[in-house]
Amino acid sequence: MATANLLDFDLDGLAAFCERLGEKRFRAVQLFRWIHQRGQARFEDMTDLAKSLRSKLQSVACVESLPVLSMQASADGTIKWLFDVGGGDAVETVFIPEADRGTLCVSSQAGCAVGCRFCSTGHQGFSRNLTTGEIIAQLWHAEHFLRRRAGTDDRVISNVVMMGMGEPLQNYTAVVPALKTMLDDHGYGLSRRRVTVSTSGVVPMMERLSNDCPVALAVSLHAPSDALRDGLVPLNRKYPLEELLSACVAYLPKAPRDFLTFEYCMLEGVNDQPEHASQLIDLLRTHQRRGLNCKLNLIPFNPFPQSGLKCSAPAVVQAFADRLLGAGFVTTVRKTRGDDIDAACGQLAGDVQDRTRAQVRMQSLREQPIAFVNREVTH
Ligand code: SF4
Repeated sequence: MATANLLDFDLDGLAAFCERLGEKRFRAVQLFRWIHQRGQARFEDMTDLAKSLRSKLQSVACVESLPVLSMQASADGTIKWLFDVGGGDAVETVFIPEADRGTLCVSSQAGCAVGCRFCSTGHQGFSRNLTTGEIIAQLWHAEHFLRRRAGTDDRVISNVVMMGMGEPLQNYTAVVPALKTMLDDHGYGLSRRRVTVSTSGVVPMMERLSNDCPVALAVSLHAPSDALRDGLVPLNRKYPLEELLSACVAYLPKAPRDFLTFEYCMLEGVNDQPEHASQLIDLLRTHQRRGLNCKLNLIPFNPFPQSGLKCSAPAVVQAFADRLLGAGFVTTVRKTRGDDIDAACGQLAGDVQDRTRAQVRMQSLREQPIAFVNREVTH
């Protein structure tokens, strides 16, 4: 039997693995609690497991996290890790402490194939999907590092957002067991309200997620019309706004809260004008009549050199927010955290061996005016 990394399994997967070793499910529960709740990677130190099981595990299994290439701490307490995932690829994970919560932003892919115009990861291209073990290792490492640093056995990370590198719903089969491990009472015990998947709009997978593991959903909207969104989020050409917002309405009955969040990155002169706010209000009202309930999160753009885009001025962001608020939509402006260590939203880059020619593609996109990008261009 090849050595299995037990971080790859949710509890059902671990129970099936244990069954193949001739062990009952309660042994899998004990093992799962040692690994995820106590951060233990050495079978010999899992003292309430029978010695025979411990030695069996030593020959067929391991608990292997990701090598840390670097760790940076921001002046505001934000911490960013760069993890080596092999083959020249590295992914980033960010911890954001706040007074009432500790949020970990987790990556799901090395790079991203969606290629959003304003996103640093998108400009790097795509190398590969992360495994379940590589996704959960980010949480495992961060949680137990932070506990050791604080000298506590209590949970430090209260929220997880799948908003790091990658489009989580394009790595569905690895992401769902990772989500289940985060939610499991024998694992990290996080509430479904406190685990958020962020998607640029992979419509068919939104429906599957609502059945398989309905956690909180954040949808990267960024534009109020297909003409504009085609140029900012290339996936819009496959799943345009009408389909996306209908999928949002369909998700809501199973969502852990009675609303979804729309993310809207504020780009100077591109999507931040009064007419964009009016179009957005019209769009949301149309779908409100069909059952949509949402909150909006305006994200000040974090510029990076290749993007050719600028952040909207704070007064423009506030005026945009005021229009939405005036129309009755709950709207917040996201505070930028960790920008002194490039850990802010859209700045995660890691190191990715682009296997998709994304950089060439992004170069040609940059040469076209955003609102007039040809719908036939593939990404
Ligand atoms: S914003 Fe998200 S989906 Fe778009 S390129 Fe970046 S990581 Fe991918």
